[in-house]
Amino acid sequence: MTHAMVDVCDVYKSFGDHTVLKGVNLTVQRGEVVVLLGPSGSGKSTLLRCLNELETITAGRIYLDGELLGMTEQPAPTGWRGMLARRSGAVTSQGTWLRQRTEAEVAAQRAKVGMVFQRFNLFPHMSAMENIMEAPVQVAHRPEKEARAEALELLERVGLRDHANHFPAQLSGGQQQRVAIARALAMHPELMLFDEPTSALDPELVGEVLSVMQDLARGGMTMVVVTHEIGFAREVADKVVFLDEGMIIDEGTPAQVIDNPRSERTRDFFTKVL
Ligand code: ADP
Ligand code: MG
Repeated sequence: MTHAMVDVCDVYKSFGDHTVLKGVNLTVQRGEVVVLLGPSGSGKSTLLRCLNELETITAGRIYLDGELLGMTEQPAPTGWRGMLARRSGAVTSQGTWLRQRTEAEVAAQRAKVGMVFQRFNLFPHMSAMENIMEAPVQVAHRPEKEARAEALELLERVGLRDHANHFPAQLSGGQQQRVAIARALAMHPELMLFDEPTSALDPELVGEVLSVMQDLARGGMTMVVVTHEIGFAREVADKVVFLDEGMIIDEGTPAQVIDNPRSERTRDFFTKVL
């Protein structure tokens, strides 16, 4: 069976009585690059955080690589246990029931997803190399020698082989963000999420980070990218999705959404951004 890398089905997310995501549907195929655009406060970060299980959704379903997030689905029990489960509403119309996943299951799923945030969140007391090796050694229990060799390769890939022993404070914002990307890649993710990875950078440092992301996309990585870099969206995105007030109001190729938006609000947004 083939399934999408990400399948978001009618997802709602509320914080208290504030509903931030209002029925979001989104599919990301393997190898696809989706750029998520939208005004500040529209729910972009929340949506990314839901994909990484940093937030629990209020309603709807998210499938990652075919697996349901948050809950796990199995055939409903038969007999009196099934009857009780049906009565409590735990059984779906397909005759399956849901149970909360174990921590180990959540951790295994989360390891498939790498995330890069706006603020460089490197460990300040570790060198670039140590930052990259930390999770492979401590979490994935890979041999240190192997992790070190791979970290060097990753540093090479983001153009920082000469900076292996530099600490974050000795690196520019752009270099730190490239280390953050290398660090995420060290866990061999199948999906990479970027939340405004260049928004906190000085303008002259934006290009080097976008170019690493573009290489990654060319290499076939599945990516969901929140960014206001329209040039990047045009050039790299397979699909552009426009989020407004927790709803996807426009979706299509960059040409469709950026140059020929369907909705007034999307058009408005681009006249301000471009
Ligand atoms: P965007 O990334 O598009 O700017 P966010 O997803 O960060 O938007 O936020 C969408 C809305 O959700 C905002 O109104 C924000 O205040 C609210 N929000 C986000 N996270 C939380 C939280 N942990 N608790 C309460 N409200 C939140
Ligand atoms: Mg945000």
